[in-house]
Amino acid sequence: MQLVRHPRLPLLEGPTPIQRLSRLEHALGVADGPGLYVKRDDLMGLGGGGNKLRKLEYLLGEARAQGCDTFITTGARQSNHARLSAAASARAGMACELVLTDTVPRDDEAYRRNGNVLLDRLFGATVHRHPAGTDALAAAQDRAAALTVAGRRPYVVGSGGSSPLGCLGYAACAAEIKRQEGELGLRFARVVIPNGSSGTHAGLAAGLKALGDDPARVTSFTVLAPLCNAIENSRQLAERTLHLLDPDAAIQEADIVVRGDQLGGGYGVPTEAMFDAVRLVARTEGLLLDPVYGGKAFAGLLAAIDSGEWREGGPLLFVMTGGLPGLFAYEPALRG
Ligand SMILES: *Cc1c(COP(=O)(O)O)cnc(C)c1O
Repeated sequence: MQLVRHPRLPLLEGPTPIQRLSRLEHALGVADGPGLYVKRDDLMGLGGGGNKLRKLEYLLGEARAQGCDTFITTGARQSNHARLSAAASARAGMACELVLTDTVPRDDEAYRRNGNVLLDRLFGATVHRHPAGTDALAAAQDRAAALTVAGRRPYVVGSGGSSPLGCLGYAACAAEIKRQEGELGLRFARVVIPNGSSGTHAGLAAGLKALGDDPARVTSFTVLAPLCNAIENSRQLAERTLHLLDPDAAIQEADIVVRGDQLGGGYGVPTEAMFDAVRLVARTEGLLLDPVYGGKAFAGLLAAIDSGEWREGGPLLFVMTGGLPGLFAYEPALRG
């Protein structure tokens, strides 16, 4: 894969581990099955860790190569991407400005102040808050224009860091998973992930395709866009990411598998199945899923195992994407 052509600022310590969830398999009654594994993309040393660091390696790599001094990005108020952008910018010696919108219908003290919001400020980011419905990317670009006039050199990327360049982080992760499959002596039938801004899915799919593997091994659960939009976003972004790796390859419709059964009331709106999944994984394995992404996607995985749909066919890999601070932002909802 032509990854080395793109400048990368290293933010991870190395490959993230893959671990088997034996106690959970027992609790689910599938201990004699092909195996349920997690890839610990929540286990990274910088800023609390999470999937956005893989994208930020390439985004900050490009920002630095362009001589930029300020990283600007957008997100919801409790955005993990915003928090990790702030941490990674600090590590890179760049200023960070965050354009955050109130897209999630929660306004309690914990949501407004705790979790990622607390950490954005600790990492020294400048936060610009806007009401729901604001065009956050346009606001970020306006801010960049003002900074440019003042003699600064801003770099702007939209929500989730999901530009094709950012998605290269997950194309590299696809290669990492394939190496680990070789070491473990197994091949995952499915790689299960949450789908927010679609960059994680697009990167993994493009990476697998570029490596001659099957992108349809990836199943994502949308937690943000309605299913049709999530499929289309993921396909287009995978296509553009693949273009950076192999201009001759193409993504087919059948390459992109997204499910819509865990979206519930929409982005950031809790579901009962999410709470159940977060508690089950915490109590059987001592592992923490977040309420916005991983909790919902894991609920989808549990439902598919429970229905019998995913019992056969081979081992499953769930990618834990981080988001632990979100648990503190949802304290009132998790209390009950
Ligand atoms: C952003 C995020 C996701 C979704 O990744 P996308 O690339 O935006 O689809 C999943 N889990 C967590 C914890 C996240 O912060």
